[in-house]
Amino acid sequence: MKMDQYVVIGNPIAHSKSPQIHAMFAQQTGQSMGYEKCLAPLDGFAATVHSFMAAGGRGANVTVPFKLEAYALANSLSARAAAAGAVNTFKFHAGQVYGDNTDGSGLVRDIQTHAGFKIAGSRVLLLGAGGAAQGSVLPLLDALPAQLIIANRSLDRAEALVQHMAVHTAAAHKLQAMAFSQGMGSFDLIINATSASLNAQALPISPEVFGAGSLAYDMMYAAQPSAFLEAAAQAGAHTRDGLGMLVEQAAEAFYVWRDVRPDTLPVYQALRQQLCASV
Ligand code: NDP
Repeated sequence: MKMDQYVVIGNPIAHSKSPQIHAMFAQQTGQSMGYEKCLAPLDGFAATVHSFMAAGGRGANVTVPFKLEAYALANSLSARAAAAGAVNTFKFHAGQVYGDNTDGSGLVRDIQTHAGFKIAGSRVLLLGAGGAAQGSVLPLLDALPAQLIIANRSLDRAEALVQHMAVHTAAAHKLQAMAFSQGMGSFDLIINATSASLNAQALPISPEVFGAGSLAYDMMYAAQPSAFLEAAAQAGAHTRDGLGMLVEQAAEAFYVWRDVRPDTLPVYQALRQQLCASV
């Protein structure tokens, strides 16, 4: 019998670790499935999805720059994808496209399960209001923080995100938009969802945002700590990068497709070892 097939669609896509992660999940859980990388032309995302569906594909992950197009293409959406306004996971059934977003739940699971940080009752600062931040707000609110401040370089984008969330959650009163500034106060959990770390840029935030015993989380991952994580460590915060989020969002997509939850720790450890060996 032909194996169930999955892909990750993006542009560029060569760097993607998703095939390796899903191969490890499939082996560990005894699932018979294939998972490949797929480069879609920048103007050919929908055509790429439809031809994969026509060939019998069962599901897909979607990455940069197609998450918004994926949201528009889905016939039905999970609550978290609707709140995110972006889709990173497709499940295909009878010619229909179900869109989900597993980024935010991957983030929350990594923070709570692996970093051992309890979000309930904490003050959270989310830096950034782009796609990754959008996908994180509802899962973060579902973890019951006392407050969630969204700070962005362009204040209007943070304000639009807060406004958008009002129709997706009863906890919108916990949200507040802010521009980057001095005097933001201190927080228990500080999440960098900006792309500044990708360009080795520091963020214009004061060290005071890192409270005693706080956790600083950078969604970006690399062999070396980002400027954000270095500043946080100097201020006495615990630090964690986004490698665990990457593995957890993949595990959540695997669960959506296969109804089986893989053990993420050995996969995380293998990827971390690879990353460290690459320097
Ligand atoms: P977007 O392009 O959608 O958003 C970028 C965000 O970064 C915006 O809020 C933008 O602010 C802000 N920004 C960019 N440069 C700077 C700067 N120099 N100073 C301050 N703010 C800046 O990107 P994504 O949301 O898709 O990705 C954000 C990060 O999250 C990336 O590092 C990405 O690698 C990571 N990520 C990690 C995942 C994981 O699994 N670990 C999954 C998804 C993303 P403005 O609105 O003002 O332009």
